[in-house]
Amino acid sequence: MIRVTENLRKIRDLLAKAANDAGRSADSVRLLAVSKKQPVSSVLEAAAAGQRDFGENQVQEGLDKIQAVANDELVWHFIGHLQTNKTKAVAEHFHWVHSVDRLKIARRLSNQRPESLPDLNICLEVNIDEEQNKSGLVTVRALTELAEAVVELPRLRLRGLMCLPAIRHDFDEQRVPFARLRELAHGLAAIGIETDTLSMGMSDDYRAAIFEGATIVRIGTAVFGPRQ
Ligand SMILES: *Cc1c(COP(=O)(O)O)cnc(C)c1O
Repeated sequence: MIRVTENLRKIRDLLAKAANDAGRSADSVRLLAVSKKQPVSSVLEAAAAGQRDFGENQVQEGLDKIQAVANDELVWHFIGHLQTNKTKAVAEHFHWVHSVDRLKIARRLSNQRPESLPDLNICLEVNIDEEQNKSGLVTVRALTELAEAVVELPRLRLRGLMCLPAIRHDFDEQRVPFARLRELAHGLAAIGIETDTLSMGMSDDYRAAIFEGATIVRIGTAVFGPRQ
């Protein structure tokens, strides 16, 4: 039972150090523990160690875990590709969706979010390296149009932008796509769409992301170990 607890302690220290080195406060960076393909027991251990935010990228696996863990204090983030026939379950059981890239999905989430729950937090996913095999918005114009539409939808709250860049190993190169995502958020702010979230950075590039303003880093293996 020590492993996840110990990993979390180390990661929190590393995130705080990165924030400090970047001239930011440690509490400006939120750790999203990506629990996809990890057992319920690992989530329970992380929760016992004070971890609150968890990320899943498959709807059914996420629902099963949310139900099995049964802890109302946890915050569940959907970070995977979302198909239209799965939006209802996500709208009913998750607190955040990081991967909205189409108006159709946003409209369905808005319609299906129960009145009894707070607004669903939304990030728009940007395909920042314009990769063929990845989802996400590619043009500034498409991003702007979707953001303008999402802020008008009831029961959704547009929080910011998310990206999953191509793998780079050099720190300075890792910063480039994250800087671009930050600039896209500034571009939205300039037309009156204020957001407070940049969901960027994973186990191998969180430090570069924090230097470029990440407010949520999504970390899986460094917290839980290799996926099953
Ligand atoms: C799996 C995943 C992560 C976490 O990746 P690690 O390399 O294990 O930290 C982060 N974001 C998304 C969207 C993922 O699918």
